[in-house]
Amino acid sequence: MEATRILLDAADIPTHWYNVVADMPTPPAPPLGPDGKPATPAQMGAIFPGAILEQEMSAARWIPIPDEVREVYRLWRPSPLVRAVRLEQALGTPAKIFFKYEGVSPAGSHKPNSAVPQAFYNREAGIRRLTTETGAGQWGSSIAFAGQMFGLEVRVYMVKVSYGQKPYRRLMMQTWGAEVFASPSELTATGRRLLAEDADNPGSLGIAISEAVEEAAGRADTNYTLGSVLNHVVLHQSIIGLEAKKQFDKVGLYPDIVIAPCGGGSSFGGIAFPFLADKAAGDKRAEHLRCIAVEPSSCPTLTRGQFAYDYGDASGFTPLMKMYTLGHDFMPPGIHAGGLRYHGDSPLVSQLFHDGLIEAAAVPQLATFEAGVQFARSEGIIPAPESCHAIRAAIDEALKCKASGEAKTILFNLTGHGHFDMSSFERFFSGQLENYVYPAEAVAASLAHLPRVG
Ligand SMILES: *Cc1c(COP(=O)(O)O)cnc(C)c1O
Repeated sequence: MEATRILLDAADIPTHWYNVVADMPTPPAPPLGPDGKPATPAQMGAIFPGAILEQEMSAARWIPIPDEVREVYRLWRPSPLVRAVRLEQALGTPAKIFFKYEGVSPAGSHKPNSAVPQAFYNREAGIRRLTTETGAGQWGSSIAFAGQMFGLEVRVYMVKVSYGQKPYRRLMMQTWGAEVFASPSELTATGRRLLAEDADNPGSLGIAISEAVEEAAGRADTNYTLGSVLNHVVLHQSIIGLEAKKQFDKVGLYPDIVIAPCGGGSSFGGIAFPFLADKAAGDKRAEHLRCIAVEPSSCPTLTRGQFAYDYGDASGFTPLMKMYTLGHDFMPPGIHAGGLRYHGDSPLVSQLFHDGLIEAAAVPQLATFEAGVQFARSEGIIPAPESCHAIRAAIDEALKCKASGEAKTILFNLTGHGHFDMSSFERFFSGQLENYVYPAEAVAASLAHLPRVG
């Protein structure tokens, strides 16, 4: 019988991250400061350490992974690459379906891949405290864990609706020693202003980012960490695709299609960009490679947003980034894939999408849960609602293969398990979940507030 789990040894953990900037036909547009001029390292130095800023602006193809980071990665990496044979059989498809399983990390998702180096570089720079925001709780728990690995205090602003809905994520963060506050909070000027306007403000990722950035900018011993979107986060996540390439080499296969859910774009870039590197290098195996970023129809950033300069947060604290955006004051509906409710997208993913090098798809909520349940019933693993988006697209591609008789190799990023999202599955089973397509007028209204640049 063929191997269905393709494993690597600890010694196979990559020694370098891959930076897609080195291979982009159009380099990413620079972030802009409040004056409309390219943001200076000094402006960003208030919230990030030098090593992270260097990575953020680097065009080097390979960037070494510090030994201390590889040591912590060894707690769960290399992650398995698994062939979903039982899912293939259930679908009756000739396609080979593989998933890279990132749910084996302590926090249960791909996010510690970046949380660990971020905590490390901050400690090296003499920082004692980290702030961050979290939606579904995935990033907050990752940075809480990573902070603990390197002896840093962590304060997490958690989107208020999630704070109420996800007590176990909050408790995970507290178990790893972090302080957690519902956002908007009374701790920052942003939070106080919003609560004065509406005491029941449910919060959003954008608001929580504003609060975490405000605190970090105001304290010398404190820096901010972001779980997706920025170039350095996408860089750190390249470990996923780099490992997957080694695993495919072991079995002499190569994917035709690479699929990942897309919130801020780091898990997508992380798995897809190392394969795009082969395409850029003229590798025949990658000649027809397709990479698909999958987003919810309720937060359709790539498929219905605009490629423009916008803020990363609701209050306009962050530099302006050129990215696909739904507008920084976009209020996503309370769908059950919290990690995908962000108005923007990675500038790297955005530029590559704009240049036609990658594809995007938007899928409705009910179809993603259906796919997640089908996956759980064939492969056993209960996927995170975010990951269900990739599963939906992978199943759809496999069904196209069934219709055409093509035996394609499909790889998707199983970004996390859904053990803390069972209440979302409960709503799905009891028929309380709905499809929500963001109305065109609402998209137009928030896009009308894009900052004017140049
Ligand atoms: C955060 C998260 C995502 C979205 O990741 P991005 O890198 O921001 O696109 C997907 N899946 C899971 C399980 C997550 O926690």
